[in-house]
Amino acid sequence: MSESKHTDLNLLPVRLVPGVGPQKAEHLGALGIGTVGELLEYFPFRYEDYRLKPLEEAKDGEKITVAAAVFAEPNLQRYGRNKTRMTCRMLVDRVLITTVWFNRHFLRERLTPGTDVVVTGKWDARRLQLTVAQAEFAGAQQSTRSGTLQPVYSVGGDVTQGWLRKTMLQALDRFGDQVAEVLPDELLAKHKLLSRKEAIRTVHRPEDGEESRIQAGKRRMAYEELFRFQLKLLAYKQLVKQRSEGSAKKLEREKVRAFVRALPFRLTSAQKQVIADILEDLEAPSCMNRLLQGDVGSGKTVVAATALYAAVTAGYQGAMMAPTEILAEQHARSLNQMFEPYGLQIGLLTGSMPEKQKRDVLGALQMGLIDIAIGTHALIQEHVHYRNLGLVVTDEQHRFGVQQRSVLRRKGLAPDVLTMTATPIPRTLAITAFGDMDVSSLREMPKGRKPIQTYWVKKDKLERVWGYIRKEVDAGRQAYVICPLIEESEKLDVQNAIELHAQLAVLFDDQEVGLLHGRMRSDDKDQVMQQFHQGACSILVSTTVIEVGVDVPNATVMVIYDADRFGLSQLHQLRGRVGRGEHASTCVLVADPKSDNGRERMQAMTETADGFEIARRDLELRGPGDFFGTKQSGLPEFRFSDIVQDYELLEQARDDAAALIRSQSFWTDAAYASLRDYLQREQIMQGDLLD
Ligand code: ADP
Ligand code: MG
Repeated sequence: MSESKHTDLNLLPVRLVPGVGPQKAEHLGALGIGTVGELLEYFPFRYEDYRLKPLEEAKDGEKITVAAAVFAEPNLQRYGRNKTRMTCRMLVDRVLITTVWFNRHFLRERLTPGTDVVVTGKWDARRLQLTVAQAEFAGAQQSTRSGTLQPVYSVGGDVTQGWLRKTMLQALDRFGDQVAEVLPDELLAKHKLLSRKEAIRTVHRPEDGEESRIQAGKRRMAYEELFRFQLKLLAYKQLVKQRSEGSAKKLEREKVRAFVRALPFRLTSAQKQVIADILEDLEAPSCMNRLLQGDVGSGKTVVAATALYAAVTAGYQGAMMAPTEILAEQHARSLNQMFEPYGLQIGLLTGSMPEKQKRDVLGALQMGLIDIAIGTHALIQEHVHYRNLGLVVTDEQHRFGVQQRSVLRRKGLAPDVLTMTATPIPRTLAITAFGDMDVSSLREMPKGRKPIQTYWVKKDKLERVWGYIRKEVDAGRQAYVICPLIEESEKLDVQNAIELHAQLAVLFDDQEVGLLHGRMRSDDKDQVMQQFHQGACSILVSTTVIEVGVDVPNATVMVIYDADRFGLSQLHQLRGRVGRGEHASTCVLVADPKSDNGRERMQAMTETADGFEIARRDLELRGPGDFFGTKQSGLPEFRFSDIVQDYELLEQARDDAAALIRSQSFWTDAAYASLRDYLQREQIMQGDLLD
């Protein structure tokens, strides 16, 4: 017995379950079930309630199950072709009700007065009438449904609900006792969790009908899932640290201090703190893997610049990756300016550069003539070689993943990595998606910033919006106008932008009105951006290509057309393009939202300017899957848990995993063998994850 206890049910093919032949096994395979273990972990998504209910508690229209006794002979009517309607008076709790049966005339013989029957169906409280969907006669075989909660599985193809229920019970009978525990006893005790065996049985066979037991079963599986995931992340984090294949950089601290002193502003204390953390990381022998999150405008770029400069003082090259060419070009301009007095060489590399120019940059990088490379993801492609790359900064990108790291590793590079995010990330997502990183936050805004006023106006008030822009540009300020976004078609976006630009060019015929959209050639884009930077153009009509990062401190008005079509975080990013300088700024959301959700979003934007709060609401309104917009988020799909709803469990799992990994006994004690096996299977221990 004890031997079979250690069977790994995930190694046993599902065909071993009684009643599952080759064909059925194939059908189960289509549902992603190949092993006994996978079958048992295939959880119902809801339950049907066949528990008996006292009539006085039944609500009108509700589906209920009651125990009844036949009171009088049924009454049968035929209609249409082969259709029947049978009524039968029955006693339930000493109340006389009418049951209605459609096309079940074959049951007529059995409905003799005095017979006990459990009926399930829709209750009509006014007429005291129950339309029967299912019936079970007492004594007939063993009763299977009455009084229970029946699991409802997601089925499809050739697998039916009834068959899967039956098969699940077979699997439980045959293998249920072999379900092995994977969590350490102390954690089970600490969180009062059901054993794995118990949890799985309860969820599939909640016979006693206690919902709290089902909840306990699900909670256990959710915890397990979150805990294992955290264990994996943290083990990975530790591994990256332990490998110590990074380099301990010998920074010239004095030069770095001089650089900071020469900046045109004083760093906020948050910036100072983060820079101190980063410099320490650079000097440490292990690879830095740090996430810097800060609200828009909190001043991440100068932090990155200081880090890059520091790496260069130690004799390394640095690279800064941006998600768009516009942003890469902006960074190249501002870093050029910043580093010019120090004689640093900056190289810009983007996909759309002429080949010849690209080749020059690539050559210079390889020879070490360029100190800091700036560009899009082109920077870390296979054919880009560095002489001595020591630090990679990714700006406004969500993830510098395992993959990117491994591209560099194949070239023998193990640079320190600083990831900066555009959007503050709610804690629960940060733990999940970035749990393998050290996290720094810039919670403080540079001094002297005036808060951005945000207004929501209907489209019929546009005249006043133009009037306001007029006032601002006359005072020497600049304005952005973001065009409606049309999801299905970039072409229509461009069309919109062109039309709006034409309209505004007429309205503001004494001003230079610029136009920017994704279909423009990159040097044209660059030129427009440069004009706007220099103030040569006072109004910029643009699609969302300027969403992140663009920094023109003299711009004080942001008008967003059809703002309800954007997500909250995106709106917050767009709004963050203004309020970056000394002048008070305004954001105008132009929208006639049709949905409650749309109205809520507009409301939220006018109510709060705090990016962390916006992110929290955004997560609530959109759910974790959509939060990052695309699949690049690095968020795993969880089967038993929901990181928003289960965030408390998630935090516990995180703390537990951290504590366990820190303890020496985790790596040696037999009690944790199964967890170590798990990490091994997940390829953490060998570090294959990096390749
Ligand atoms: P973000 O965090 O959104 O990337 P940026 O790095 O673009 O923000 O900084 C926004 C603006 O604030 C820039 O114009 C930058 O020069 C300025 N800035 C950054 N740090 C400070 C500071 N400590 N004091 C004043 N201005 C600052
Ligand atoms: Mg930025």
